[in-house]
Amino acid sequence: MRKTIVFLLLAVLQNLTAQETPTLDYYLPDNVSYNPTIPTPKDIIGHEVGEWHVTHDKLLFYMQALAKASDRITLENRGTTFEGRPLVLATVTSPSNHKNIDIIRKEHLDLTENFNKKHDVNTMPIVVYQGFSIHGNEPSGSNAALAYAYYLAAAQGPEMEAMLADMVILLDPSFNPDGLQRFAYWANSNKSKNLVSDPNDREFHEVWPGGRTNHYWFDMNRDWLPVQLPESRARIASFHKWMPNILTDHHEMGTNSTFFFQPGVPGRVHPLTPKLNQELTREIGTYHAKALDNIGSLYYSEENFDDYFYGKGSTFPDINGSIGILFEQGSSRGHLQESENGLLSFPFTIRNQFTTALSTIEAAKNMRPKILAYQRDFYQTAKEEAEKNKTKALIFGDTKDAAKTWHLAEILHRHKIKFHALDKDVTLGGKAYKKESSFVIPTQQKNYRLVQAMFEKRTQFTDSLFYDISAWTFPLAFNVDYTEVPSMNYAGEEITELTPLTTTIEKESNYAYLFEWHEYYTPKALNSILNMGIRAKVAKQPFFVEGKQYDYGSIMIPVQNQRFDSKELYAVLKKISNDSKVNMVAVQTGLTKGIDLGSNEFEPLKKQEIAMIVGSGITSYDAGEIWHLLDQRYDIKLTKLDTEYFNRIDLAKYTAIILPNGSRGHGLDKNGNEKLKQWVQNGGVLIGYRNATEWLSKNEFIKLTFKKDTLVAKNISFGQKKDFLGAQITGGAIFETSLDRSHPINFGYQKEQLPIFRNTNIYIEADKESFNNPIKYTNTPLLSGYISEENLALIKNSVPFQVQRMGKGRVIVFTDNTNFRGFWYGTNKLLMNAIFFGKIM
Ligand SMILES: [Zn+2]
Repeated sequence: MRKTIVFLLLAVLQNLTAQETPTLDYYLPDNVSYNPTIPTPKDIIGHEVGEWHVTHDKLLFYMQALAKASDRITLENRGTTFEGRPLVLATVTSPSNHKNIDIIRKEHLDLTENFNKKHDVNTMPIVVYQGFSIHGNEPSGSNAALAYAYYLAAAQGPEMEAMLADMVILLDPSFNPDGLQRFAYWANSNKSKNLVSDPNDREFHEVWPGGRTNHYWFDMNRDWLPVQLPESRARIASFHKWMPNILTDHHEMGTNSTFFFQPGVPGRVHPLTPKLNQELTREIGTYHAKALDNIGSLYYSEENFDDYFYGKGSTFPDINGSIGILFEQGSSRGHLQESENGLLSFPFTIRNQFTTALSTIEAAKNMRPKILAYQRDFYQTAKEEAEKNKTKALIFGDTKDAAKTWHLAEILHRHKIKFHALDKDVTLGGKAYKKESSFVIPTQQKNYRLVQAMFEKRTQFTDSLFYDISAWTFPLAFNVDYTEVPSMNYAGEEITELTPLTTTIEKESNYAYLFEWHEYYTPKALNSILNMGIRAKVAKQPFFVEGKQYDYGSIMIPVQNQRFDSKELYAVLKKISNDSKVNMVAVQTGLTKGIDLGSNEFEPLKKQEIAMIVGSGITSYDAGEIWHLLDQRYDIKLTKLDTEYFNRIDLAKYTAIILPNGSRGHGLDKNGNEKLKQWVQNGGVLIGYRNATEWLSKNEFIKLTFKKDTLVAKNISFGQKKDFLGAQITGGAIFETSLDRSHPINFGYQKEQLPIFRNTNIYIEADKESFNNPIKYTNTPLLSGYISEENLALIKNSVPFQVQRMGKGRVIVFTDNTNFRGFWYGTNKLLMNAIFFGKIM
């Protein structure tokens, strides 16, 4: 009896110990022998998988050690993150496949290109891309990658060898190294020796902005299509290099959830995705179900998450002949946490990710010919559709903005979409296209469907709920003209390498230099000019001089009375022109048609000292987009003021302060509000975004009238409530505005219409005085995406922008995010206008 009790007690203790310090056996399948020459994770990183949160550098060391020890694994470095961490990818296959890896890859690509050749899908290897923890604070994925990589390198036996002979695995152990590192630091530094599972513990409450995002606080799982971030660029290059058949994306969700695998909600699949894609996803799902049944883990599928926005990792593959699969594991966040399903340990979450990584390759092995045939047929039917399409080419361009057009072409280039130069200047349906700043995309090409997904406008939907945005039409995001044409007549030669733009100032002047404000990088040029202590002015009216028309907002730099002599000034400006891709013109006279160069209609500009309020209470995505825009694109220094110490600092030196979207009073208390108000009254320009509009109105910084939704539920049951309310969310759609081009907020825009991205339901009533409404939603504003009828009625003729004086300063508000996800190039200038020209509004 006593013996039994002791034995039981020991068993309980062992169980607890096992939970706290797992060994590798906990993850690995039974009945497999392992090659003893392969180092285990603990051999290299000094702790068991799941004992601590792996830091990115340790993960990297382990992958390097495996590549060295195993002839199944090679490791390539594809670049670095913003913080300089290597973006590695392991290629895992049999040693004999490794000897022919390039031939295998080319054959694999040939399957999607050369339909005359009879490829035998029964004998070809399948390609599986497995990626982990794109959200850095969803760490079970990257931690599972340790055990999974060990398994792939060390597992022995004929079954494993057959698997590797039939498969090339691209193992991306960390989609987001900077975020993973940030989160590991947090979870490890708050870990107690006696694991604390109380959800109130600091371990589970990361400080702002948390480890989800990358260095500039971007959600990288929205950048698969726009490819604006270095991590995405490396990943997308690997994707197109290999055209994987299956791509998996391992995430985490709320602590009280179990485990999710795709398919998502069946009715919310993008219509360009073939039906068979979802059927295959469902069949692959049966392997995950079986594997999770075996270890007793709860799971679900088809109830939430969707396959609509192609910018997400599990949906992007679906428009590229591949099958994208999302996994979501309930998060332990730290090492052990109480949940509605009992104690949730970090090792348990890792084991589910490990198990589904394995069930993925099992499905790939068994379904190989079927999935390869699906990929071939995807491209063959796309080719047939393209041939039937009457549109043979898409032309896009902006006559006054070569850089912005170039950046759109750069996205095409990264996706291996073919495009050509424009043969000659042409006007189509009233839209002018210039040879130097336009491109032609043939529709008859391999990536026909991807082109459609990027360029189409869609306003009809079968469902009114979206997990993410409902529109991302690239030519609207870039605010470029585009036209569909029925032939390739305008196409010049194909562009295979995008050469950098070249700009200059052709001659020296003794009088003045001029440039228009339309080019994308003009704010970068102006900022450099002002930082060099060079005087510059902005034209509030158009004028004509020496054979050239200059629009509103043109910048004039007089030669006389500068801190440089005329020769030095020419050299400095020439360098700025070159660095910022902005052509400047030397003029020899101040006499113009319109305002003369000495006119008071030229306003002197001031060097800017810009700050942004960040920290607890501010939406980190919105703040990060602004930081990235100024720092990475325009080389403009931005001081980040944390709400934590905002009340203790002196604001006097700042000329402009940006208040991004936020919650809980944007983290500012009464003293903070007063301080900000005082600063505006003394002459500061305060720029508020999205719901900062309402906060600034409520706190009497600005007088605004909002249009409110009066919708009341009628005949809507409790069961329908969620869908009813969900249908009123404007998750992200594109709307047309009309511009008053004479207002400084619109300087640099050459057309009277501007597409704006919107993901709020804040509607400002237009001012009584028409000149106070320089940007106004039109009467039929919906260009692309979903909005409810009720909200569409509210947005019509409302205004997304207002500016008002307060003392010597200005309060500027935007209801919409003009910097969305780093790829909304078309509206980036609005923020720059608010900063540089705020004081003349
Ligand atoms: Zn996630």
